[in-house]
Amino acid sequence: MASGPTALTVHCPHCEEPIEVPVTARHLSRTEVAISVDLGSAREHIAVHVPRLITDLPPTAR
Ligand SMILES: [Zn+2]
Repeated sequence: MASGPTALTVHCPHCEEPIEVPVTARHLSRTEVAISVDLGSAREHIAVHVPRLITDLPPTAR
């Protein structure tokens, strides 16, 4: 497995929009690999839906 920055593409379950999640893998030692996933972009995208999810409550939820 090559080390260095790469990105995963996930699809938002709410709107199906692709979200790029940067992933960095680096070797700590010959047998250990550290994988960092930057969820900032996913959090930002999900935050866009928060007001919508609150206002879209069905009438029965009142
Ligand atoms: Zn979405």
